Amino acid sequence: MVSMLPDAHSLLIKNVLERLQSNSEKGLNASFASERLKLCGENILKRKKAKSVWEIFLEQFLSPIIYILLGAMILAFLFNEIIEGFAILFVVFITVLIGFFMEWQAMRSLVALQKMVETESTVIRDGEERRLASRSLVPGDIILLQAGDVVPADARLIAQKSLSLKESMLTGESEQVEKKLDTLPLETRLTERINMIFNGTIIARGNAKAVVTATGDETAIGQISYMTQEAEKKRTPLEKKLNSLTHWLILFTVVLAVLIAMTGFLTANDPVLMIKTGIALAVAAIPEGLPVVATITLARGMLKLSKQKVVIKRLESVQTLGETNIICTDKTGTLTENKMAVRSIVFENSKIDLENPIDQKNLKTHKNEPDLDQLIKVAVLCNNSNPKKSKANGDAIDTALMEFVNNTSYQANAIAEGYPEVNEMPFDAELKLMLTLNEDHGKFITCVKGAPENVLKYCEYILVAGGEKKLTDAHAWNNCADNLASHGLRVLAFAYRNTTDIPAQEKLLEELVLIGIVGFLDPPRQDIAQAIKIYKDAGIQVKMLTGDHPGTSLKIAQEIGLVGLENVNEKTVLGSDYPDFEKITLKQEKLLLNASVFARMLPKQKLDLVSFYQKHEGVVGMLGDGVNDAPALKKADIGIAMGIRGTEAAKEVADVILMDDKFTALRLAIHQGRAIFENIRYFVIFLVSCNLAEVISVATASLTNLPLPLLPLQILYLNLVTDIFPALALGMGKGSKGIMLNSPRDPQEQILTKDHWLATVIYGLSITIAVIGIVIYANFKLNLPSLTINNMAFYTLVLAQLFNIFNLPSWKTSFFKNEVTSNPWVWISLVVSILITYMGYYIPFLRETLSLVTLDFNQILLVVLFALFSLLISQIVKRLGLVKI
Ligand code: ADP
Ligand code: MG
Repeated sequence: MVSMLPDAHSLLIKNVLERLQSNSEKGLNASFASERLKLCGENILKRKKAKSVWEIFLEQFLSPIIYILLGAMILAFLFNEIIEGFAILFVVFITVLIGFFMEWQAMRSLVALQKMVETESTVIRDGEERRLASRSLVPGDIILLQAGDVVPADARLIAQKSLSLKESMLTGESEQVEKKLDTLPLETRLTERINMIFNGTIIARGNAKAVVTATGDETAIGQISYMTQEAEKKRTPLEKKLNSLTHWLILFTVVLAVLIAMTGFLTANDPVLMIKTGIALAVAAIPEGLPVVATITLARGMLKLSKQKVVIKRLESVQTLGETNIICTDKTGTLTENKMAVRSIVFENSKIDLENPIDQKNLKTHKNEPDLDQLIKVAVLCNNSNPKKSKANGDAIDTALMEFVNNTSYQANAIAEGYPEVNEMPFDAELKLMLTLNEDHGKFITCVKGAPENVLKYCEYILVAGGEKKLTDAHAWNNCADNLASHGLRVLAFAYRNTTDIPAQEKLLEELVLIGIVGFLDPPRQDIAQAIKIYKDAGIQVKMLTGDHPGTSLKIAQEIGLVGLENVNEKTVLGSDYPDFEKITLKQEKLLLNASVFARMLPKQKLDLVSFYQKHEGVVGMLGDGVNDAPALKKADIGIAMGIRGTEAAKEVADVILMDDKFTALRLAIHQGRAIFENIRYFVIFLVSCNLAEVISVATASLTNLPLPLLPLQILYLNLVTDIFPALALGMGKGSKGIMLNSPRDPQEQILTKDHWLATVIYGLSITIAVIGIVIYANFKLNLPSLTINNMAFYTLVLAQLFNIFNLPSWKTSFFKNEVTSNPWVWISLVVSILITYMGYYIPFLRETLSLVTLDFNQILLVVLFALFSLLISQIVKRLGLVKI
């Protein structure tokens, strides 16, 4: 394709830039880039493109329900029943149309949501750094990347600093890959092109500048995803459950319909009518709405959540949320404010406490003490938000340090300028420290800050008033750190080393001089304690997985009510005590299952712990924000990333994004997830019990030689009235009141459990009793003509089915005040259904087709009474606790 450069790895950087008409400093010119965008197309992968309207429409026909309906239609035409044939065609039409509109809407909201979480990249255009949507990148663009970013396109490296990438999504190798700038032979294999970075891979460490050489489907991953495109169309667990239920119902219906047709044929009442009845019953009893209900309710759930700043990226995640029984979360920024402030500084001979701002001002007089001087120097240099680096949103610790320095009379600017950076090891969650090497007026200074126990390992000296002396009491320093941590402070040790030459890379962490320890205050968020309680009530365990100090973690955990004050030791696990989660004793297993605070966890251990819980029947939601969390986010049943603070890598693999970084918002999502399953359950119970009533009423009447309660066309009409609107309304419910007080649903649980089936059958039978009851009463007691009897039965069935909607709420809730009666859609649907029923009588053509006659007041009263009677039976059975739903 135009402008793509597949052989970029084999060219000199200079030539790559030339061929792409770009400039490494100025980048492309904006208007040129937009011309090129037209030529090359947007930088998106085909597999991520949405389905077309036509595809959605045609897919509606690929369902066993439609096959059966079409079969019935053909049969009807074969029997020369033109009106029935067209009526069934109409049902097909409505079914397809509703399915289409629902799915189309779901698709549109999905696309809209995906726009909300679209990735951005830092690009140089017209000589300026800009944040642009990654989809607008073109070959030749100069991009800047840092740890945590997802590479937005294939690109040739121009410059890099301690760069290493995770390329597992491309190569399957989990090892990190280091990158170099050298030009490589043309035939170098993709996985060995170390001067290139590839679309979709993740910057694990360091930073880079690169020129885009291929975009969209022309990238390496785009080429692969062509092959895997088909494999992606997996059915969701919910769809699978619904599908299998649908198949069973269809089988059941068809068998019954054939039985009715056959018995009718054998008793030779009216063989043709019986065959027609059989067909109509099959059509009526088929649960048309079932396949789309999942899509509709899930999509609606997604839309509602997005208004609450919770973006769900995959449809089925909504319902998995309802099954979640363990939430693993990091601490910093999720449970705490992530607005850090320096609170305590401990040197060998003195201690500074900054309880309030006044103390901070006093610091100015502290000046000229060598230990403070040195600490401030390291704090400024070993810092990603220092004025020379000016990164917009630096690490919270780094920001806190700069803020601290700015409040003293030290000049951060001057310090940063006086000591230019030569080399850097960015903060690494595994080593838990950060290091810079700076020039110091002809000599060099190594600056280190990080987790005390790790930094102390490399310290051989300590800075005291008189100069450096041998460090002999490392143990005491560790205790000092523990002590600060037990007050809930985040602790960091600071160290340095002066050298005349640049130390070798592997000798950077040697012979360090300890300066002191700094404690940072990072208070828990206001609303967390309450949220934790809600999760506890909902039977969801919350686990804190953090890289932080055990003391700090425990204190915070206590403050937010995650652990009580007793037996605290049993509830804290130290990552270093568990080198391998695969090889643990039964006792340890129990400990892991019960513990809720996991401190000093390595990124790999977070992943292992998630798998461990999954093996022990956990449906795990994992909250994280860093690159290092990405594997665990992916592994978890639900990966949850923070929208503001999260790295692109975390957001890319997550299923749920909390746009305003609020842990509490997750509660809404879990609520929604649970409500959706409940709604679908109601929907299914309602639909199946109504259909059952139709089938059994007709079957009983035809077997006992009673006047037929339903004529074929009436059945088809009834189907429109009761199946569509009330059922849809049930899908819109908000969920029952106690929904967050129950334990999470077992993922293995079917849509209908035994109890639900029992209830379904009972509701169906009580409707049947009313219908058969009115037939018997009208026939033997009132001696009415058979057409009138038929009409009365028809209306009883309609009304009893509509009343059936009030049977759904749990037997524990009030009959008058519950999630069904408080759902306005239910009332609207009832009104609409009654209007449609009336229309059948009011419009002459329909009246004739449906064989409707005029009923007198007493007859109508009887209909209402019998319909109410069916509701009464169900309610009595239910209130007696005979069905426990
Ligand atoms: P968390 O799980 O709470 O996010 P991190 O992995 O961010 O923990 O941090 C773990 C430890 O690494 C901290 O307790 C601290 O000692 C150290 N640390 C964190 N941020 C930095 C930083 N910017 N520079 C140096 N060390 C850091
Ligand atoms: Mg962190």
